[in-house]
Amino acid sequence: MDTIDERLAVIQPLNKFWYANKVAALDMLRLDLIHPVVSGNKWFKLRLNMNHAIESGYKTIITSGGGFSNHLVATAYASKLFGIKSIGVVRGRYNVLTPTLEACKEYGMELVFVTREDYAGRHEPNWARNLVAHFDETFMIPEGGANEWGRAGAGLLNRFINGQYTHVAVAVGSATTMIGIRNKTSNQQQILGFAPMKQGAYLNGYISTHAVPEKNANWRLFDNWHFGGFGKWSNELIGFMNEFYKENNIPLDIVYTSKMMYGLHEMLTDNFFTESDKILCIHSGGLQGNVTVKHLLKY
Ligand SMILES: *Cc1c(COP(=O)(O)O)cnc(C)c1O
Repeated sequence: MDTIDERLAVIQPLNKFWYANKVAALDMLRLDLIHPVVSGNKWFKLRLNMNHAIESGYKTIITSGGGFSNHLVATAYASKLFGIKSIGVVRGRYNVLTPTLEACKEYGMELVFVTREDYAGRHEPNWARNLVAHFDETFMIPEGGANEWGRAGAGLLNRFINGQYTHVAVAVGSATTMIGIRNKTSNQQQILGFAPMKQGAYLNGYISTHAVPEKNANWRLFDNWHFGGFGKWSNELIGFMNEFYKENNIPLDIVYTSKMMYGLHEMLTDNFFTESDKILCIHSGGLQGNVTVKHLLKY
């Protein structure tokens, strides 16, 4: 198996024509390059969880997600790499496995399927306990890696984010990556989160609760570029992705980073930023999720 190489992450300036010189700099941190399966932010959220589980002597990692979860497959792969058993609790039943679930199995993850109703109870303390009762010495990583190790791991991204950037743009699912970055960057830097689902604003409370108090400022969550909901897309979004690739030579993913860059482009057009601003966008990976729209993408 390939190892995950953080040194492959590079900062790539975007084409000035794409942002019409509206800001002084617009760069993208290419976390998608560190590994094809354990894409970008997933690795950072997992690595301290993995270390903790192994140092504490756990034998098995258990985590959960939907049939298209990038987190699930990243956990399967990382567990195999670290030589620890993994169990994935999957929301819903599948007669035919999704490509993501097939990949999980290939990396040795044991899949346990639960109904959507049962899955909805996952935040209750007994949920995981009942579930893992028949497994030995398991460490539970919440969906999306949303725990203290996940946030601390995402905070390690601060070494790519130097003080010259006035804004950092990041796609948001569980908000773990955004919170981790907020907690470790300068208060002067604005953290802009882009939620790809309807009514993503519900995450505002969660973010302020988990941001360290002295950093709980200068962040903002946008939820208007959802294109109909999580995982939904339109031909316009596909066209935008193809155009973005043509101008910047960077493939975006259909679920998260395409919607973030679409939103950011609209903000640039609407003069949200000033000419002296310097923006770093995080490419958080997720490209394996493009299989469903591969035939429409020109990359
Ligand atoms: C999972 C994922 C996110 C969301 O990360 P959170 O830490 O859960 O907010 C963003 N972008 C991509 C490509 C992802 O796969």
